[in-house]
Amino acid sequence: MSYDTECVFCKIIEKKIPSATIYEDPYVISFLDINPRFKGHVLVVPKVHVSTLDQLGDEAIAHLFVVVKHIAKNLVENLGAAGYNIMINNGRVAGQVVPHLHVHIIPRYKDEKQGMGFEVAFPVDEKAKSMLNDIAEKVKLTKEIKPIFRSEEKKEQKGHEEEEREGNSEKSGKSSSLPYESEYFNDDGTPKFK
Ligand code: 5GP
Ligand code: ZN
Repeated sequence: MSYDTECVFCKIIEKKIPSATIYEDPYVISFLDINPRFKGHVLVVPKVHVSTLDQLGDEAIAHLFVVVKHIAKNLVENLGAAGYNIMINNGRVAGQVVPHLHVHIIPRYKDEKQGMGFEVAFPVDEKAKSMLNDIAEKVKLTKEIKPIFRSEEKKEQKGHEEEEREGNSEKSGKSSSLPYESEYFNDDGTPKFK
C-alpha cells in the first residue's frame, strides 16, 4: 500500500497514532471519528492514500462500500440507531479536512435532531432548479459501465474459450476474464500482490 507520511489517516493505518478501531482487513480500516457528530460516528477508510472517490479503483470502491454496509447495519443493531447518514466530503471546497478518502457513517437517533438532514447544509438552489434539463445534458454518461461482479462476464468468456478450443486456436494469447483491469487479480484469477 502507498502511504503519505504526513497524512493523519495513513498514520492511523500504520499504527503510528492510536484510534478506536472497529474493523480492519487488508484493504480497509474503520475507526470512531475523534469528534463524533452523533454517538457512534465512524469513518471507513481505504488503506491506499487517495484524496477523493474518483481516484480509487473500482474494486476497491466496491469493497469499501460493502464494508460500509456491514458497519452501518452493526451500528443500527448495537447502538439502537433509527437511521444513518453516509457521507463523503470530496475536496476542500466540499468541506474535506483530511485529504485521505473516508466515508462517514453517522448513526441517527429518534430523540436527537430528528429529521435534520440535507436541508440544513444545502438549501435548495433555485437557479440550479430552473436548469435541470440543461445540466442533465451536460453530465449524461454515454458509455455503459461494466458491472464489477464477474459472473455474467465469466459465462460469456467461457463461451468464447469453448469456441476457441473447438476451432481456430490461433488466438492463444490469454484474454482477460474480467471486464476491466483488476487491481486485485491477475487474468488467471490468482491474486496480485503489491
Ligand atoms: P472531513 O471533513 O475531512 O470529511 O472529515 C474528517 C474527519 O476526521 C472529521 O470528522 C474529524 O473529526 C476526523 N479526524 C480528524 N483527525 C482525526 C484523528 O486523528 N483521529 C480520528 N479518529 N478522527 C480524526
Ligand atoms: Zn493517507
